[in-house]
Amino acid sequence: MFDTHCHLNFKAFEGRVEEVIDNAKKAGINSIVVPGTDLESSKKAVEISERFDQVYAAVGIHPHHVFEIQSNNDSGQAGMTKEMQEIEKLLTHKKVVAIGEIGLDRHYYNKTKYPDYKIDESFLELQKDFLRKQIELAIKYKKSIIFHNREARKDFLETLTDYRSLITDYRCVFHCCEPDQALLEYAIRHKIFIGVDGDITYRKDKQEFIKTVPLKMLVLETDSPLLLPIQLRGDNKRRPANEPKNLKLIADFIAEIIGIKVETLEKITVENSGKLFKIV
Ligand SMILES: [Zn+2]
Ligand SMILES: [Zn+2]
Repeated sequence: MFDTHCHLNFKAFEGRVEEVIDNAKKAGINSIVVPGTDLESSKKAVEISERFDQVYAAVGIHPHHVFEIQSNNDSGQAGMTKEMQEIEKLLTHKKVVAIGEIGLDRHYYNKTKYPDYKIDESFLELQKDFLRKQIELAIKYKKSIIFHNREARKDFLETLTDYRSLITDYRCVFHCCEPDQALLEYAIRHKIFIGVDGDITYRKDKQEFIKTVPLKMLVLETDSPLLLPIQLRGDNKRRPANEPKNLKLIADFIAEIIGIKVETLEKITVENSGKLFKIV
């Protein structure tokens, strides 16, 4: 199987990456893409991909982390130019298959390392600038794109539409896609994959949504260490980090609710993921 979105580059996995990849292999997860969320985690993703054959990297600045660049620079624009030069350097690495995760995010995070985090129009404008610049880089270097969108559908689809004619079919994914028919319709029309995670095991709206997603648009992801499937949640206090080996639970769950054999689901999603990242 193929975990198309897993943050082995996050602190939760420090000193455990080898073990986690081993466990994944034993569970039949043979390919993993590690997306970056800022410069540091993008570099880390590349480093991990160099050490393990079955791991690939994506590099990019997540909209949440655009806040840091806005706060650290007199002008967000100057900060952006610097960050984009660094991302561009990483993009030429042979294990970097995509730019990501990039997008727009209007969600107010309770747990964030930025104490004065707030979402206003100037912040959203800078997020859009980052999104546009990174789409342009993906086009320039012929990389796939991992899109993150949270509570910003209108602006997100408008920004994408500006570039639509330049983005290649079947080379983008709406990762952890919100259960929103407008997003799905856009994805079907423009041949964009839909990423589904472990939160489907406890979110009724996502369980209904999956029944409307064509199989040829579906890819699986754990978003580890986040979004632990409900079967593993146990008591709240000692919740373990999610891992790519748990992808199997997501596949079993989806196969059951859409009424197909899990082997079929696994085969199709692996093919879809290979197509998405141009990995055969
Ligand atoms: Zn995300
Ligand atoms: Zn992510």
